[in-house]
Amino acid sequence: MSTVATAQCRCGAVEAQVTNAAPDTVNRVVCYCDDCQAFAHHLGRADLLDRNGGTDIVQMAPATITFTKGRENLVGLRLSPKGLYRWHTACCKTPMGNTVGPHLPFVGFVAQSFDQDGQSADKVFGKPIGAILGKHAIGEVPAAARGMPLGLVARAVWKVLGWKLAGKTWPHPFFARDTGAPLYPVHVITREERDALRVKCGPRAAPTA
Ligand SMILES: [Zn+2]
Ligand SMILES: [Zn+2]
Repeated sequence: MSTVATAQCRCGAVEAQVTNAAPDTVNRVVCYCDDCQAFAHHLGRADLLDRNGGTDIVQMAPATITFTKGRENLVGLRLSPKGLYRWHTACCKTPMGNTVGPHLPFVGFVAQSFDQDGQSADKVFGKPIGAILGKHAIGEVPAAARGMPLGLVARAVWKVLGWKLAGKTWPHPFFARDTGAPLYPVHVITREERDALRVKCGPRAAPTA
């Protein structure tokens, strides 16, 4: 079955289409890591975090994603010089894809960007299959979610390897094929800015009431 799903930023200026969208073509996992929390706080989008500070992420193959609207609003942010490329929109500060770089073929979208116009992330991709890095969560999360559960990691590695072998890296929505260079401006925040965000992230942060 080939389903096309649409991801949208909050204001609707930026839109991407994902082909072949289905539970078995993606990894949908909640990430509690403090970098994902810091990123949301930096954007002023803590509304995207769950009550434990988790980010609900759908990882997919780069070549299945095409931006169809508002590309001029795309910018990248790195929390450190070697950090993930965290793409987001300049218009309304919506995360629009996390990537390691051009050679590790996956892109992670926040699940909420698929919740619109009668479409829902749950319907398209199914519910999250698990959670990772709960040691950074705010409040209590299941023990199995504290680290990197082996089954989830194995599935992610298997998926990424499959995408690589199947040639689903290119065309990449964020990198040029010939040079590997980012297609949109990228900003690296300073150490001081990163440290200032830390206090907002678990487990140091106080549990939400
Ligand atoms: Zn927007
Ligand atoms: Zn994370």
